[in-house]
Amino acid sequence: MRGSVSIVALMLLAASAGACGPRAQQDPASPQPTAASGVEPGVEAPGDVPSQAEDQPDKVDTATAKTTDGDDAKKHVSPKKSEAIARVLAAKPGDSTSLGAPNNGDLKGGIALPATGPGYLANPKKDPDSRYGTVELVQAIVRAAEVVEREYPGGELLVGDLSRPEGGVIKGHGSHQAGRDVDVLFYLLDSEGKPMRSVAAPLDPAGEGTDYKDLADPSDDVPVKIDVPRTWKFIEALLAQEQVYVQRLFLVEHLRSMLIDHATKSGAPKPIIARFADLTCQPGFPHDDHLHIRLFCSPEDISAGCRDMKPIYPWHQELLKAAGVKAKLASGKRRKGIKLTSTKEARAKAGPMHQDVVDFLDRREAWVRKPHPGRKYCR
Ligand SMILES: [Zn+2]
Repeated sequence: MRGSVSIVALMLLAASAGACGPRAQQDPASPQPTAASGVEPGVEAPGDVPSQAEDQPDKVDTATAKTTDGDDAKKHVSPKKSEAIARVLAAKPGDSTSLGAPNNGDLKGGIALPATGPGYLANPKKDPDSRYGTVELVQAIVRAAEVVEREYPGGELLVGDLSRPEGGVIKGHGSHQAGRDVDVLFYLLDSEGKPMRSVAAPLDPAGEGTDYKDLADPSDDVPVKIDVPRTWKFIEALLAQEQVYVQRLFLVEHLRSMLIDHATKSGAPKPIIARFADLTCQPGFPHDDHLHIRLFCSPEDISAGCRDMKPIYPWHQELLKAAGVKAKLASGKRRKGIKLTSTKEARAKAGPMHQDVVDFLDRREAWVRKPHPGRKYCR
């Protein structure tokens, strides 16, 4: 076990600073090797990342695979909405205020994501005090997960860290300080194509990965694959919500392509596909084991001191204009107190790994720092 945690760390850490998810994963959400996702959006991550190689032998073509098994799913009855969920949905956006920037900010009046709700589970291995966000963010997660549950029952979104109750520095992340960031794991399928409890396994260009668990022990490895239809549906449901202004989706390039491909082939709304395409970037380190979602400051919060990072897209500028406010950009300074761990340190802590893990990490190098192919909103 030891090993697994460390490995994760290792990759993640590398990411460092802005990191979002990865660290998250360090926590044992799922003990596996995770990747270095962490770089924060606004912040370039320092460290280097583990290396790896190229495409691997894909066993399955996930891009087009129809994986959701609706049959089983239909039997699955959606849990009745709990009181906690009802309270979340009854909250008013004005109840919470995001202050400052994602990597140097605070949260006032934030609400907690309930431990569970229709179609989702807050990662039980994480600190419940890291489940706070603005009303807008928490509602957005609950609503999007519920859409997936309704349309493709049987899966479950595993939600990682949001922010601390009052925001500020949060362990394992460079951002997630102002209640507008959340990490969610991809919906996953097991080797039989059935939905499974998600783990933070880095996924390769075929959308496949392994939950290595004990990194030194090959006998406990479990192959996993991204559940593209559910993962896309969640994103589509998120982007379809009015009043939810997504600023960024941090995601590794090859999973982005896979999702766009699926969305296009399955006839998803074109404006949503286009929006997704614009919002997604791979930060300094790949988000290949989770998706990091960041919301813009709401127009009301801007007046109270909420600060955004670039880019402020043209459509968002128009929206703000209509609301009579202008976006205000963060200074770019990260709050002190964010601890970064180098890849080297992480590696040192990882302990023994069996050969497949080493090989995967080597392969992973191929997508670790891949530049964005000419996309206008990514650096
Ligand atoms: Zn994150």
